[in-house]
Amino acid sequence: MLFGALEAGGTKMVLAIGNENGEILDQMSIPTETPDITVPRIIEYFKDKNIEAIGVGSFGPVDLDRNSKTYGYITSTPKLPWVNYDIVGSIKKELQVPVGFDTDVNASALGEATWGTMKGLDSGIYITVGTGVGVGVLANGKLLHGMLHPEAGHVLISKHPDDHFEGVCPYHPNCLEALATGPSIEKRWGKKAIELADRNEVWELEAYYLAQGIVNYILTLSPHKIVLGGGVMHQEQLFPLIRQQVLKLMNGYINTEQMKDIDNYIVPASLNDDQGIMGCIQLAKLELQRQA
Ligand code: ADP
Ligand code: ZN
Repeated sequence: MLFGALEAGGTKMVLAIGNENGEILDQMSIPTETPDITVPRIIEYFKDKNIEAIGVGSFGPVDLDRNSKTYGYITSTPKLPWVNYDIVGSIKKELQVPVGFDTDVNASALGEATWGTMKGLDSGIYITVGTGVGVGVLANGKLLHGMLHPEAGHVLISKHPDDHFEGVCPYHPNCLEALATGPSIEKRWGKKAIELADRNEVWELEAYYLAQGIVNYILTLSPHKIVLGGGVMHQEQLFPLIRQQVLKLMNGYINTEQMKDIDNYIVPASLNDDQGIMGCIQLAKLELQRQA
């Protein structure tokens, strides 16, 4: 059985065809321009591919409330041509198949929960640290929605006393996204993150911030596993620094088996950067089941 998968990002769209086992049979990407240009290209790719359903993991914010008139819309995004755009509706209209829909990070969480390092767990979180910081949440075996959906990249954190960088979030001077994204690192230190690989102070500070976010997520969501992906997390030296800092900040308060085995609790993404697109395949599969 074939499924379509669309990972809709702010800079590029990843399009793929996969099967029920999460195997990707074909994949391509196109730049994210305006809906007028980009959506017809998406339709063109998927039509005649014999897909039973399609799963869309989208940049947001998005409307995930099935009772809302604007369910399936991208809502108040800073990408202006996409504001209030009915992405689910326009795909469904042209392709005439069920369309599963969630945030890009929830899709990645689902990919890891279905085929990756969170397999078999009924709770866990997926954190991406890239152009932005985003968090997908699996709770009680389902992706967590709510009034909107988690926007946990914007949790407020304490600034390091020696860090005078103003941050990159237009809304909050001291949210995680302001201080810890790839662009924050580049702006603070004057070089691309990847070129700073051997500068310990860069990664110590990065871990100092990410650990604050993670402690808050542990305390509020109580996940069984924490998976970190995205471009910045390719700096593997971050993992021991983050784990150490999380233990320090938690100060023994949460003392579960998972916390004692923190090397297996806070872990890298496990699907070769395909967690997002594989999660979209699963979104498609779940939507087909739901409609059956
Ligand atoms: P996006 O968040 O746009 O989906 P990525 O997850 O690839 O895309 O994140 C892009 C960001 O990650 C950029 O700011 C880039 O500088 C940074 N980045 C990409 N690769 C690396 C790397 N190997 N080490 C450190 N930072 C990286
Ligand atoms: Zn913010």
